[in-house]
Amino acid sequence: MRLGVPRAIRPVEPLYLKFGDAQIHEVVAELLNAENFYIALVTEDGGHLEFPYFVDTADREKPRRPLGKGLTEYVIRTGRALLADRSRINGLQAQGVAHSRGALSHCWLGVPLFRDEAVVGVIAVQSYSPAIVFTARDQELLTFVAHHIDIGLTRKQAQDRLVTAHAELEQRVSARTQELARANADLLEQMGERLRAEQQLTHAARHDALTGLPNRTQLLDRLAVAIARAQQDPTRLFAVLFLDLDRFKLVNDSVGHSAGDELLVEAGRRIVAAVGEAGMVSRLGGDEFAILIDNLEGLHAAESLSQGILGALGRACWVAGREVFPSASLGIALWHPRYRNGVELLRDADAAMYRAKASGRDRCVVFDEAMREQAVQILDLEADLRRAINGTGFVAFYQPIVRLSDRAVVGHEALLRWRHERRGLLAPGEFIGLGEDSGLIEEVDWLMYAQVAKQLAFRSEGYISINVSPRHFRSADFADRMLRLVDSAGADPRRLRIEITEVALLDDVPHALRTLQQLRGRGVLAQLDDFGTGYSALSYLHRFPIECLKIDQSFVAGLIGENRNEAIAVVRAIQALAGTLGIHTIGEGIETDEQRSALRELGCAQGQGYLFGRPAETMLLAPALSEFSL
Ligand code: C2E
Ligand code: MG
Ligand code: MG
Repeated sequence: MRLGVPRAIRPVEPLYLKFGDAQIHEVVAELLNAENFYIALVTEDGGHLEFPYFVDTADREKPRRPLGKGLTEYVIRTGRALLADRSRINGLQAQGVAHSRGALSHCWLGVPLFRDEAVVGVIAVQSYSPAIVFTARDQELLTFVAHHIDIGLTRKQAQDRLVTAHAELEQRVSARTQELARANADLLEQMGERLRAEQQLTHAARHDALTGLPNRTQLLDRLAVAIARAQQDPTRLFAVLFLDLDRFKLVNDSVGHSAGDELLVEAGRRIVAAVGEAGMVSRLGGDEFAILIDNLEGLHAAESLSQGILGALGRACWVAGREVFPSASLGIALWHPRYRNGVELLRDADAAMYRAKASGRDRCVVFDEAMREQAVQILDLEADLRRAINGTGFVAFYQPIVRLSDRAVVGHEALLRWRHERRGLLAPGEFIGLGEDSGLIEEVDWLMYAQVAKQLAFRSEGYISINVSPRHFRSADFADRMLRLVDSAGADPRRLRIEITEVALLDDVPHALRTLQQLRGRGVLAQLDDFGTGYSALSYLHRFPIECLKIDQSFVAGLIGENRNEAIAVVRAIQALAGTLGIHTIGEGIETDEQRSALRELGCAQGQGYLFGRPAETMLLAPALSEFSL
C-alpha cells in the first residue's frame, strides 16, 4: 500500500489522538501559557473558518466566519507559524496583510495544522497582557503539538466516514435479512424465538463481525470436508490462499482504526468479487484473509486467480480522505496427501505469504519444498532459543554514549546479542519475535541484566543503560527484582539506567509511575527510547521521572536526507520539549560527522552511533579521542 504518511510514523497506536480538543488544550497548557487558546479549521468548502475549540478570557464567542484577513488566515495563507508581538501585529495591519480580530492581543502565536502537506487550520494562543509574551521555544512546542493533531484530524474524519459506512452496511444487512426472511417465512414461523436466537449465535460464531465473511472456524470446517473428499478421490485438487494486506498497520496507526476497518471491509468486498463462485473467502482476523478454492484444475488456475485478486485490490480507493493503493501479499498452499488437517495447509499458505512479503510485497508465492525446510529451521531456532536459556549464549554488547562536543564517553547502552552455535552472532531483531509469545524473551532479558549488573560492579566509571521492554513493565515486581539483582551483584544502582519506550508508560499509567519512582528512589534513572516516532505521551510526560529523551535514529538519519527540513523541525521540537521538562537528549544512530554537527547545532549534547563505536563486547573506557579527529 503506498501511502502519503510521514515516514516517522511507527506502527504503534498514537494513543494521544484518542483525546479530544479539550485534551489538546490541556497538553498545550502544560507546556505554555494557554489561557487564550483556539483551534481553527478551514471548512470543507474552503471558504470559511470554524473554531471547534476555543477558550478565551476576553471573547465569549468565536462564530464561524468567512476567510478574511485575520492573523489566523495569514498563517493559513503563508503555511508558516507566526509569532507576533503588538508592534509586529501593528506592522502587519499597516501593510494591510493581516488584522488582529476580537480583543486586542499583546502577543499572538499561531502554527499551521497540516494534512497531506496542505494547511487545514491553525492552532493559536494569545495574551492580552503585556506580562505574558510567547517565545520561539513556545513556537516549537506548539509546532510539535500541531504535528500530532495533524494525525488526529485525519483520524476524526475517518471515524465520521465509518459511521456512515456502518449505517449503510446495517441498511444493507437489514434489507438482506428481510429478503431471507420472506423466503424462509414458512420455516421461520415454525421456529420459536429461541431457535432464532440460537441461529443468530451460530451465525456469529461462524462469521466475522466486521466484514460478515465466514471466519476461521467455518473455513476449517470447509477445509476438513475438502480434505476428506480429496483423500477419497485422488483426482480432486484444491488450494488455500493466504492473503495479508501490505503495510496495513501503517494505515491503522497513522489514520486510525476506523479507517483501517473501512479498508478491511472494502478489501473483503473486492476479494469476494474477484473470487466469485470459484471459492470461499474468509477473514481470519486483522488484515488476514484466506480463500479456499475447491475443484481446482491445477496450480496455474490458483495462480491466475491470485493475480486476479491482487489486481482487484490494487485499484485506488479513498480512505479517511487519502487516496490509498491497497496491495497484498498472497501465499498459495496446494493440497498434498501429506497434510493431515486444514491448520497445516493454512500454516504453509501463511509461510508462502511471508515469502511474498519478503520478496517485495504485492505478489503471490506458492509454498514449496525449500520453504518447508525453512519453516523447519525456524522451529529449530525456537527450540535453540529454549535450550540457550540455560547456557551462556546470550551476551551483552556495549555501545558508547558520548558527549558530542568532545566525544568523551559518558555511559554505555547494553545491547543483547545471541552467539548461536551454527548461525553466528544474532542481533535482537533476528530472534526477539520468536520468543515473544512464550515469554522467553523476558527470561533472556534477565540473563542480560544479570551480566550488566556484574559489569557495573566490576567497573568504576560511567553508567550502563539497559533496554526494558513494555512487557516487563506489566509485571508487578519488576522494580523489586531489578533492585535485588543490582544489590546482590554489589553494584551501585545510581550507575544503572533503564531505556523504555512510551508504550511502557501508557499501558498502565499508575503502575508505570510507581515502578519508575521506586527505581528512581534508588538512583536508577529512566531514558525514553526511540522518542518522537508518532506515539506521543506528551500529556503524561511531565508526570514521569524521565531523565532524558533519546531522539530516534530515523530523525538523525533524516538530518542529511531528502526530508531534511522535516527531521530538523522534529528534532528542534524535541529539544524544546526536553528544555521545558528540564531534561536532556541523546541522539541515536549517528553515523556521520555531518549528523553530529547538525545535532549539536540543534542543541543536542549527547549521542551514540557507529561514528563513535559499534556495539562491542568490551567497553570503551577513556574518551575515544585518539581514534577520531575532532
Ligand atoms: P535501541 O534500543 O534503539 O538500540 C539501538 C539500535 O541501533 C541497536 O540495534 C544498535 O546496534 C543500533 N545502532 C547503534 N548505532 C547505530 C548506527 O550508527 N546506525 C545504525 N543503523 N544503527 C545503530 P540492535 O542492537 O540490533 O538492537 C535493536 C533493538 O533491540 C534495540 O533498539 C532495542 O529496542 C532492542 N534490544 C536490544 N537489546 C535488548 C535487550 O537486552 N532487551 C530487550 N528487551 N530489547 C533489546
Ligand atoms: Mg535502547
Ligand atoms: Mg533507540
